[in-house]
Amino acid sequence: SAYIEFQDVKKVYQMGEVSIEALAGVDFAIDKGEFVVIAGASGAGKSTILNILGGMDSATSGTIIVDGNRVSDYTPKQLTTYRRYDIGFVFQFYNLVQNLTVKENVELATQICKHPLDIDETIAAVGLADRSRNFPAQLSGGEQQRVAIARALAKNPKLLLCDEPTGALDYQTGKQILKLLQDTCRERGVCVIVITHNLALTAMGDKVIKVRNGRIESIERNEHPLPVE
Ligand code: ADP
Ligand code: ADP
Repeated sequence: SAYIEFQDVKKVYQMGEVSIEALAGVDFAIDKGEFVVIAGASGAGKSTILNILGGMDSATSGTIIVDGNRVSDYTPKQLTTYRRYDIGFVFQFYNLVQNLTVKENVELATQICKHPLDIDETIAAVGLADRSRNFPAQLSGGEQQRVAIARALAKNPKLLLCDEPTGALDYQTGKQILKLLQDTCRERGVCVIVITHNLALTAMGDKVIKVRNGRIESIERNEHPLPVE
């Protein structure tokens, strides 16, 4: 069976009298080691899916299974442990600690996790061995996102969840970051899930899940994922 499953997942945000249906019954399955792109317009429900998958938010109804565990049945305490040990997050604006060096940023993330990877090796793997004593402000946007990826990977997570990781970068730099995420997936066998509103980037995914108005519009497999031109 699949490594990740969403079964009829619904999410309703209640805002006083008004309820907003962010997810209207979402089903998909992801295999171990797949590089997945979730694409759709702003407001389609992408972040809601990622936040539920990462244990940052819970579904209103439906079943979420990750690696044989019913995450949708987790207590708040179990969700905290799951977020800490099993999930690596990468955000649009990197979210690095500005007064810590590259190495210290990565170190900080490994302090609360169970089986951290070697910090220097992980920094080298994202191509920043010679920058580990720099501060974030001394790095370009692409380099800062590489630090954020190293920080997430150093936790040795089951899933690497990336919310618009190329959103703050120019197109060429964004492609290099996606290539790094694709390689990470291939080389480490970790599931990497990227959400984006940029349809040009979907060609790089092994699987492309398109979301529209809180529903799945299509799920396609790329037999030969492309390096985008
Ligand atoms: P996307 O990531 O595709 O831009 P989101 O998952 O952020 O979409 O949002 C899906 C829908 O849910 C939107 O209509 C959004 O306004 C709504 N929504 C998201 N988060 C909240 C929240 N915390 N409270 C109320 N509505 C929300
Ligand atoms: P970009 O090409 O993304 O616009 P920049 O022009 O900001 O990047 O930086 C180009 C190169 O110079 C990058 O490798 C970056 O790490 C380096 N750099 C920029 N500012 C500093 C600094 N204050 N100290 C050290 N290296 C820096």
